[in-house]
Amino acid sequence: MKARFLEYSPHLDASILEKAFEFSESAHASQARASGEDYFVHCEAVARTLLEFKLDLPTVCAGLLHDVIEDTPVTAAQMKKEFGVEITQLVEGVTKLDTLKFTSRDEAQAANWRRMLLATAQDIRVIIIKLADRLNNMRTLNFLEEVRRQRIAHETLTLYAPLAQRLGMFQLKSELEDLAFKHLHPQEHAELEREVHALTSSREKTLSNFKAVLGRKIEASGLPHRILARSKSLYSIYSKMQRQKKPYPEIQDSLGVRILTDTVANCYALLGLIHSEFKPVAGSFTDYISIPKINLYQSLHTTVVGPGGELVEVQLRTEEMHRTAEYGIAAHWRYKSGEHATDAHLEEKLNWLRQWLEWLQDLKSPREFLESLKTDLELHQVFIFTPMGEVKALPAGSMPLDFAFAVHTDIGMACVGAKVNNKMVSLDYELKSGDICEILTRKGSVPKRDWLRLVKTARARSKIRSYLREKGIVA
Ligand code: MN
Repeated sequence: MKARFLEYSPHLDASILEKAFEFSESAHASQARASGEDYFVHCEAVARTLLEFKLDLPTVCAGLLHDVIEDTPVTAAQMKKEFGVEITQLVEGVTKLDTLKFTSRDEAQAANWRRMLLATAQDIRVIIIKLADRLNNMRTLNFLEEVRRQRIAHETLTLYAPLAQRLGMFQLKSELEDLAFKHLHPQEHAELEREVHALTSSREKTLSNFKAVLGRKIEASGLPHRILARSKSLYSIYSKMQRQKKPYPEIQDSLGVRILTDTVANCYALLGLIHSEFKPVAGSFTDYISIPKINLYQSLHTTVVGPGGELVEVQLRTEEMHRTAEYGIAAHWRYKSGEHATDAHLEEKLNWLRQWLEWLQDLKSPREFLESLKTDLELHQVFIFTPMGEVKALPAGSMPLDFAFAVHTDIGMACVGAKVNNKMVSLDYELKSGDICEILTRKGSVPKRDWLRLVKTARARSKIRSYLREKGIVA
């Protein structure tokens, strides 16, 4: 374990890791998991997941020790003496989260969960350890009795998977969801797995043909690259089927490949090469390298026509971007020569997360909190509050008029101005998450023609347009 840590942090003295290993192993010595295994196997697995994320030394140690305070006679004071304040605080954070069990039926518990989440989220590493803990618990869930299994799977799907998604930890999120899906709907899971498997093999052939042609072209260019297949998780297929009320064969995405290379320049070079070899589908190209997503995701996306006329979505990214796409915030959390990497992007993301958690704190009921955890999955949204504390989710880039129409059509129609955080703003002000927006209205006031270029949301646009059309102002 120490060797594994030194692979990515070679300049650190990792002897504390060995100490934590032995300490935890002996503290849990007499305990066993439901599977019959030594309890410590679980602690080690959690630490290994954290190592996989290349997390810093205190976090990996806290992973080893995460159940010591809760499940053994060792006290926080003792731990502080052995391992210092930082590691102990991480363990205490995880312990607090652990003591709260969540079920959707119990609003009081949801409230507790929220309070605790907000308190512990001051240090995001606590949540990352908790997610690694949950992953191992989900992987070994079949050893528990039915009722507990259902509760834990449900909680995972409602709270932990969305949290992982929010932190950009897609690999973890997908695995949590698939495991929860399997335990909550075993029959559907098994059926879908069979169906996907059966259909994939024929699609696989088309795709491997494309990959072979593509591989030869890239090979000739001499650009460094690695071509990966892209697969969709069972749960994401299942939720899409539920959403669109369609059977599996009707909801297939386009075929997809992912190409990894070394530098940003080579991403664009490869993109040029691909577009010159395969016809791109108009409008399909998105550049998330120049403009990353809010959860740090970066890639170039394009859809091209393959040799057999099939559409293939190609994603291009550097190896580093790939790590971020898979591990999210955790990929950025590591020691570089003994210090936290200074990563402006990461700071931004963390601030945003803290702010988000603060808004959640302002939401009136636990139900709202849960609702927003769920609806908030869509990235590139901003959350704007009415003076009464009601929250509206709008696409990023929305203006006061979008907000006005989101609140009520009549308010939108009669809008004459807006205040944001108690200051007058112009109608082309770009709303930011957390803004409190008050719409000023005047009776008899009507929409103006230039509003159409100010609004971002479909809802506002269609209301304004239909009014203007009715009055013969626009065609
Ligand atoms: Mn645990």
